[in-house]
Amino acid sequence: MNYRQPLWMISIGHLLGLACMALGITALALGWAAWQWILLWPVFHVLDSLMLSVGLHRYFSHAAFKTSRFWHRFMTWYSVLLLNGSPLGWATAHITHHVHSDTDRDPHLAVPSYLIWKRYRNVPMIKKRLRKLASDPDIAFVHRYGQLLWVAFAIITLAISWKLFVFGYGMALGSVHLIGGLHQVISHKNNAPRDLPWLEFLLPAMGEWMHKNHHDHGGRKDMRFAWWHLDLGYLFIRLIEKKPVK
Ligand SMILES: [Zn+2]
Ligand SMILES: [Zn+2]
Repeated sequence: MNYRQPLWMISIGHLLGLACMALGITALALGWAAWQWILLWPVFHVLDSLMLSVGLHRYFSHAAFKTSRFWHRFMTWYSVLLLNGSPLGWATAHITHHVHSDTDRDPHLAVPSYLIWKRYRNVPMIKKRLRKLASDPDIAFVHRYGQLLWVAFAIITLAISWKLFVFGYGMALGSVHLIGGLHQVISHKNNAPRDLPWLEFLLPAMGEWMHKNHHDHGGRKDMRFAWWHLDLGYLFIRLIEKKPVK
């Protein structure tokens, strides 16, 4: 199986999310929606960020812990909503980023324009995790039909209510994409990974701001290295971690 997926869908997710953030705030300001709708934003921001940091990153890319079949499947199917690439695509690019970070073989570009259009360097990918992930039928299905599934999700959600789509999905999509973009640009500014643990409190990314520490200890499930560090991703892992059900 090929790791490739259309990359434009990542930027579409990013821009759609930003548009939903603007629309949601405007809708509240002009009284088009009850203020309670905004409560969905932080809830889904946390859930989406957990699925990104714990699911796509620590579980699928680094195999940092084992979990039950339920959580394995939940994280696989939830990745459709994140518009960040399938577990297969994300893990392939991410492992290549770890091996070749800050060189011309790194797929990640730490440039400000990434905050508008999420462009990646077209480099040879390291396919270490590819065979294992591709042999999982759920992951293979999501990899192949993820965009179609997303369109179906969007149509159904919009048919129920535009407020549900904007407040219960789009705004979190925007904040997670925005923080993810800032993380990619800031964490590798000046061509080296950096630790910025205080940013975790301003731009919550479920532990991802301890990024140099993460590069130094690639496979670890715990991102923290000081008592005051906040890693909600690790707390979540402690809840779902298990021996795999064979
Ligand atoms: Zn990095
Ligand atoms: Zn990593």
